[in-house]
Amino acid sequence: MVDLIRGTVRSWYRFQPKGQLMTPDATRVARLDSPAEEAREGAPDLRITAIETIPVRAPLAREFRGSYYRMTHRATLIVRLHTSGGVIGEAYVGDEDATAREIQSVVRNEIAPRVVGLDPRATEQCWRAAYPATFDILRDRRVGLVAVAAVDTAVWDAVGKLLGQPLWRLWGGARDRVPMTAIGGYYGEPLGPIEEEVSYYRDVLGLAGMKFKVGGRAPADDADRVKRARAAAGPDFVICIDANQGYTVPDAVDLARRLEEADIRWFEEPVQWHNDRRALRDVRYLGGIPVCAGQSELSPSGCRDLMEAGAVDVCNFDASWSGGPTSWRRVAAIATSYDVQMGHHEEPQVSTHLLASVPHGTFAECFHPDRDPFWWNLILNRGELVDGQLAMSDRPGLGWELDWDYINGHRLDS
Ligand SMILES: [Mg+2]
Repeated sequence: MVDLIRGTVRSWYRFQPKGQLMTPDATRVARLDSPAEEAREGAPDLRITAIETIPVRAPLAREFRGSYYRMTHRATLIVRLHTSGGVIGEAYVGDEDATAREIQSVVRNEIAPRVVGLDPRATEQCWRAAYPATFDILRDRRVGLVAVAAVDTAVWDAVGKLLGQPLWRLWGGARDRVPMTAIGGYYGEPLGPIEEEVSYYRDVLGLAGMKFKVGGRAPADDADRVKRARAAAGPDFVICIDANQGYTVPDAVDLARRLEEADIRWFEEPVQWHNDRRALRDVRYLGGIPVCAGQSELSPSGCRDLMEAGAVDVCNFDASWSGGPTSWRRVAAIATSYDVQMGHHEEPQVSTHLLASVPHGTFAECFHPDRDPFWWNLILNRGELVDGQLAMSDRPGLGWELDWDYINGHRLDS
């Protein structure tokens, strides 16, 4: 019987298409001499000809503090994927300040040589060719994943432009508008008193709600801060809370119970990282507030584990941190089997398309313009918010028109 099983396994791998193996022979992908030649056989008229990278960095107007971290700059990598037909796939991903140059180097020196020559319409081939950038065990895996995401997002933008369709529709078109919420409530009230900040999101920006930072103070103190936000917002405004992994389980449950009357939509990453599957589940069961996590996962498999453990109600896997829209859509498919809803950590330039495409999508997130100058300055044609919802456009691909005056004023390679 053992021999029969071994023989079956050997046969399975033998008959997989060349260059498509994942395990146990994943390194085979990296060893292929010319994946581009294989792809060109099926579509000789269209191929990726070059990948251009532009790192951009902007100082924030002030420091922003969550439970255990602080931000002083925003950085991102713009990728322009040139094709033989003249279409250019264009995307920007991530908020990596310290590693921006390293990510750019991975795209240029490791991914581009493997992806140039492929047919951009073969999105899975492009993703598979980029994936080995995550295999170096001595490098922060996130660096490779953001690099893969940058290229994957640009590939998809090219596909949408080639087909003349927006990505939210190509990916499923579940709805043509997405509610947007702000990430705010930072410690030290850098945007003014909590009441003024809430009013700005609701009345000036016209957003549907906000996510509020907790986890950096005692539960009683954080509960008071959140209650101030709820009192200022009134009942028809979504409020989520995010501890950024700051609490122990007892403290997270304590806060949740103090906020029973505050109508909290979800409690995001409530607990410290070291035993999070079990700890998230405990907070979910004991606290009485839906739990959200996923942004810290590196792979769809990690999100599956969260779901299988009963640890989450909402999964906010981040496409631009973790392998691109191709990876996010794999997570979204898994989530349907667990009745888990999908969110997305930040990055509205791609999250709006992803969340509009699936029936179990929730809110797209943005920031105050002082916290994310890119969403508010780098894109020239953001849509209008109506009743807290962003209407998705019919422009093909991601549909964004980038502001090159702004980019040229903030690029790191100028
Ligand atoms: Mg979060």
